[in-house]
Amino acid sequence: MKRTLPPIVSVFLFAYCNAQSDEAKTIEKQRVEYNINQEVSAYYLKNKGDDTPSISQGTVSNGRLINGKLFPFYGPNYTYFDEKSYLAGRGFIHSSIRDIVLESYLQLEISQPNRHFYIMECANQHGGKIYPHRTHQNGTSVDFMMPKLQNGKPYTDLDQLGSDHYWLTFDDNGKYAKDPSIEIDFNLIAKHILLLNEQAKEIGYKVSKVIIKIEFKDELFATEYGKKLKESEIYVVRNLSPLINSLHDEHYHLDFAPIHK
Ligand SMILES: [Zn+2]
Repeated sequence: MKRTLPPIVSVFLFAYCNAQSDEAKTIEKQRVEYNINQEVSAYYLKNKGDDTPSISQGTVSNGRLINGKLFPFYGPNYTYFDEKSYLAGRGFIHSSIRDIVLESYLQLEISQPNRHFYIMECANQHGGKIYPHRTHQNGTSVDFMMPKLQNGKPYTDLDQLGSDHYWLTFDDNGKYAKDPSIEIDFNLIAKHILLLNEQAKEIGYKVSKVIIKIEFKDELFATEYGKKLKESEIYVVRNLSPLINSLHDEHYHLDFAPIHK
């Protein structure tokens, strides 16, 4: 005997499937436009997560992530930095932190239309240890690639190295060791951190910690937005072990936390 669904269920299912395929179509169109690997796009669709809010348990250095969301691989002005890292499930994030970061990119699209940004490793789908990071365990830690300049102009030729980007070396003034004409854009970093904190506050969060090579703090705080960052309540680390310090010369690490009232 043939069974039919009640009309209301059929209508719902039709609308649901249509919405799904519309989103899939948009993603496919953008994938072609941005020249993104099909496997990456399929992985995102499969793992991006639903609308259930995420929950961070424990701390950044001993924690878990419930209902983690996969950060989109790309957008008009940002890209996740490494396909392998992405497909290995290292781009998961707390839903609120994802929203904060996405909103910051949206704002940067307006204020810095000529720049492209790279987000680096976040967390595993369920959090926990993520070698070699000591933190990144509960979905509230994010690494951001340093934006760069060459002769004062935006420079992105070193931005497509994937995970090898973590091994680039910059001197204590933020100039690339192999070519000092390439330098870190500290003003833009400060602007981004301030924007992230503003967006975070909108939804009851804050930037709770910024990790950047200690020797860079002078350069960072000397810039237009750096001065504002220095005056803000945002905590920028004061001491790091030599190893951790040396690893934060080509990306800045941020931890986010809910504001407790
Ligand atoms: Zn980090």
